[in-house]
Amino acid sequence: MNVNQHTPMAPPYGQPQPSYGQPGYGQPTYAPLDSGYPAPYAPHNGPASAYHPGIPPQAPPPSSQPPTSHYSAQPQPSYSQSHPPASSAPSQLPPSSAPAGSQQYYPSSAPPSQQPISSLPPTSQQRFVSPGQPQHTFPPSSTSYAGPAPPPTQPASTPVTQTQPPFHPHQPPFSSAPGGQPPAFTTGPPPPAQGSFPPQAPPPSSQPGSFPPPSSVSSGQYPSSMPPPQQPPQSQPPTYHPGPPPPQAQMPPTSIGQSNHQPPGPQGPPSPTGPLQQPPLQQGMQTGAFGQPRSPQPGYGGPYQGQPNYGAPAPTPQAQKRLDPDAIPSPQASDMPPVQKSRHRIDPDAIPSPIQVIEDDKAKTTEPFTTGVRGQAPPLVTTNFQVKDQGNASPRFVRCTAYNMPCTADMAKQSQVPLAAVIKPLAILPPDETPPYLVDHGEGGPIRCNRCKAYMCPYMQFIEGGRRFQCSFCSCVTEVPPHYFQHLDHTGRRVDCYDRPELSLGSYEFLATVDYCKNNKIPQPPAYIFLIDVSYNAVKSGLVSIICQELKSLLDHLPRENPEMDSVIRVGFVTYNKVLHFYNVKSSLAQPQMLVVSDVSDMFVPLLDGFLVNVNDSRQVIESLLDQIPEMFADTRETETVFGPVIQAGLEALKAADCAGKLFVFHTSLPIAEAPGKLKNREDKKLIGTDKEKSLFQPQAGFYNNLAKECVTQGCCVDLFLFPNQYVDVATLGVVPVSTGGSVYKYTYFQAESDQERFLNDLRRDVQKPVGFDAVMRVRTSTGIRATDFFGSFFMNNTTDVELAGLDCDKAITVEFKHDDKLSEETGALMQCAVLYTSCSGQRRLRIHNMAVNCCSQLADLYRNCETDTIINFLSKYAFRGVLNNPTKAVRDTLVNQCAQILACYRKNCASPSSAGQLILPECMKLLPVYLNCVLKSDVLLPGADVSLDDRAYLRQLISCMDVAETHVFFYPRLLPLVKLESGALPVAVRDSEERLSKGGVYLLETGLHLFLWVGASVQQELLLNIFGTPSFGQIDSSMTSLPVLENPISQRLREIIDSFRAQRSRYMKLILVKQEDRAELMFKHFLVEDKSASGGASYVDFLCHMHKEIRQLLS
Ligand SMILES: [Zn+2]
Repeated sequence: MNVNQHTPMAPPYGQPQPSYGQPGYGQPTYAPLDSGYPAPYAPHNGPASAYHPGIPPQAPPPSSQPPTSHYSAQPQPSYSQSHPPASSAPSQLPPSSAPAGSQQYYPSSAPPSQQPISSLPPTSQQRFVSPGQPQHTFPPSSTSYAGPAPPPTQPASTPVTQTQPPFHPHQPPFSSAPGGQPPAFTTGPPPPAQGSFPPQAPPPSSQPGSFPPPSSVSSGQYPSSMPPPQQPPQSQPPTYHPGPPPPQAQMPPTSIGQSNHQPPGPQGPPSPTGPLQQPPLQQGMQTGAFGQPRSPQPGYGGPYQGQPNYGAPAPTPQAQKRLDPDAIPSPQASDMPPVQKSRHRIDPDAIPSPIQVIEDDKAKTTEPFTTGVRGQAPPLVTTNFQVKDQGNASPRFVRCTAYNMPCTADMAKQSQVPLAAVIKPLAILPPDETPPYLVDHGEGGPIRCNRCKAYMCPYMQFIEGGRRFQCSFCSCVTEVPPHYFQHLDHTGRRVDCYDRPELSLGSYEFLATVDYCKNNKIPQPPAYIFLIDVSYNAVKSGLVSIICQELKSLLDHLPRENPEMDSVIRVGFVTYNKVLHFYNVKSSLAQPQMLVVSDVSDMFVPLLDGFLVNVNDSRQVIESLLDQIPEMFADTRETETVFGPVIQAGLEALKAADCAGKLFVFHTSLPIAEAPGKLKNREDKKLIGTDKEKSLFQPQAGFYNNLAKECVTQGCCVDLFLFPNQYVDVATLGVVPVSTGGSVYKYTYFQAESDQERFLNDLRRDVQKPVGFDAVMRVRTSTGIRATDFFGSFFMNNTTDVELAGLDCDKAITVEFKHDDKLSEETGALMQCAVLYTSCSGQRRLRIHNMAVNCCSQLADLYRNCETDTIINFLSKYAFRGVLNNPTKAVRDTLVNQCAQILACYRKNCASPSSAGQLILPECMKLLPVYLNCVLKSDVLLPGADVSLDDRAYLRQLISCMDVAETHVFFYPRLLPLVKLESGALPVAVRDSEERLSKGGVYLLETGLHLFLWVGASVQQELLLNIFGTPSFGQIDSSMTSLPVLENPISQRLREIIDSFRAQRSRYMKLILVKQEDRAELMFKHFLVEDKSASGGASYVDFLCHMHKEIRQLLS
């Protein structure tokens, strides 16, 4: 096996194939995570410490205790975690064509007043409060969470003493059952208050153990609706502070927030005495932990120079009175003597911080990631790094949940860690990485194992002097064809090993022979068909004009293999409302001809010759057509549309032309006209939260499933652009796109003026992006595991073949593996993903990705080498598919339970013995709770009152084909404080919480789908002038969707950052300006995912407490 070769990456194979990842003609290309690619890599100084240089290539790692993040005073060994890589999301298109922005597109009718993004509940009692920011994020390792930071800069008048626990502003949304233990970070004695848990006393209305909280409960917990009772001074039990804080320098970088490690001992109520007198809450609010910045801890400058304050924007004076949920008295506590009314507050800075983990990973990633070492986890998706393929697929193509798979099914079951890979077969690589080479083995085709049909790869073992090879997947021995014979060197390796991509690289392509083609026939070049809704709504909104105008230039940018050559993709055009209009655009015609098909019950294509044409040949006729379409339907009164026959028409056209292709359908309304696939409005919000809710995610008609199957057979991929003004039943309309590897785009309440930029950018990218057709993906594995489940946009006729009518560079497929036998530590586990597809030039190819991971017989090794971002990708897809057949609450409970089991298993089997009151998390999974909470709070699983069923169905479909980078930023958005903008590097992000916002600042938040610019109410005038060109907060136009171009470094840099964010994502993000305390702020706050959500989702702190409780229950 050659998996461990450290091959020099001189490309001896000639040129890589040109098609994917080459910028060419304005194609989407790879965009770096930060602006400016590539980041300069540090000079090579030997293996990066982050990559376990000591691990022998094929040996499993030592089974010592895996890295742990826990709240104990014992510093844990600091492991160098390996992490996932940067996203390979291609960039948006350059503005290759002029936007269709003429006056005629903007109808004079008043635009709908609703925001296109209506995912937020209309009201919230939450008020913005300008938080004072703690200036350090991590307390020293052995410091109690409750007393982390000496506040050296606080004025003498502050009542906050050095030992005072920082307040946290969250009221727990749930209360634990009596007898609950204090949260992990609060080791030591349980809280005095009758086992109320988390320590904060629950509001009277909360139910013990209820989680997530009923919304009525949570609303009752909002501060604004509660009198702010003045708690008497609170004391912390002295047991929490066994001594003076230890020197901060002892903090290991991996430890995330600690409790003062109180050994398990008498669990009596905390002593009322002690040094930790808490000041009255109100005082604390005004002058203490909230209002005053805490200085960095002495001796702890943060892990990175100059970046001590993750999540801590510049402090601002506390201008607004903070209403503290903690000020709500608890019934239990009120029965106690005042001195005992202690509440255990969890410092948000003392719990695992996503920002810290992200920044730690960036800091330790100084060298290219080489894939030659089996079982090595790559850098995180949030880190910019270069990949060198040395025998395993790049993490841009394949990411795994675990790089150390458990050897047995029992171990896997015990741990509950999902074993899965997220595969993005046609991912675009950054310009400094070599796209997969194209290997041509001639008429014989690719060399394969005789039995399991695995393709030649670095794992195959040549024997008998090179005359035969043994398959590493099934052990079968196969003859080497004479033309492929080569001698072996003294190590048993073929001497031409480094000359052949398939013997030395993780990813490459084979040219497929006619045997790999449908009906043993070399395929025709694919075709693109544009099907445009010309009903009243589409015309009135200006949409039809915009599309036609854009297509005139966009058609020059169809995908092609060679940038020098014209695309061979043919195009065709259809318009429709309740009837269909086909167009003959044959080059010999002077004018296009329209053919109307009004009988939509049995769709056929009324013309064969002249419907699908070459753009260059028919340019005049096409341009004439595109000019005429908006005029032809300008006065239409037709409001009804069909939908099923539209797809059927495209499908029939492809069938007639005997080719694969893509349909671009631009559609506005629920198809209620009499026709196959006619739908009715079934939106019923009363079903939400009931057992019938799942039916709303299922298609309402079987028609579309059957149609999808037909499309897949033909290689007909459907991309659907929706422009609804009301319910259109995305769950049903999306069936065909989702089953054919297509995409759904949704522009609710489309208004030309504010939405055409987003639509046109999406359209340009969608039309131009690299795509394969008529694809079949097969994942083979070595003995012991097999691929059992698949998530994404595709169709499956059997249990092994993933069929994709189309597969573009943005689509990822998540594959779950299960044991069917024992795995061996020696050989590890191998997988080979083979995608057979037709390229955009009509060439049949096989793209191969190989991946080898380690196997372990110790659970600790599993927990040492997992990737939480990928686990979340899997869990979210698993859950979002689960809502099709289960009540959403059951889905949420299952998620919580699985994660509790994962963490409990670690605690039980891997962590060093410690107090039961401690929450101990594996180092590489310490963000599992926070990220999981984001999944649980998502609109799909816990919708706010304002989230439409269409929105939920749309998100559900969208996430099913996201890669790891996309799910990461979607569930945990990137929130950038716009400070020090003049310099080149991006500011370090802050955590997604209102507490991290300074009202004197400006912040950029991106989710991969949304982009917000939040402006604090007391933002400095200078910043306003530089960004908006106005000195006054009040004068900022909150409806602006692009920033004014101003000649100053801040304006320039900010616009660069926005452009670079957009370039990284597969969908264009419209800029939404949010002024503090404006209505739009509700929408923005929805993405502050560490906070309690308006729909009742728990805050991070509260969820962590809940998770801890669940773990303890499992352990007891
Ligand atoms: Zn085999």
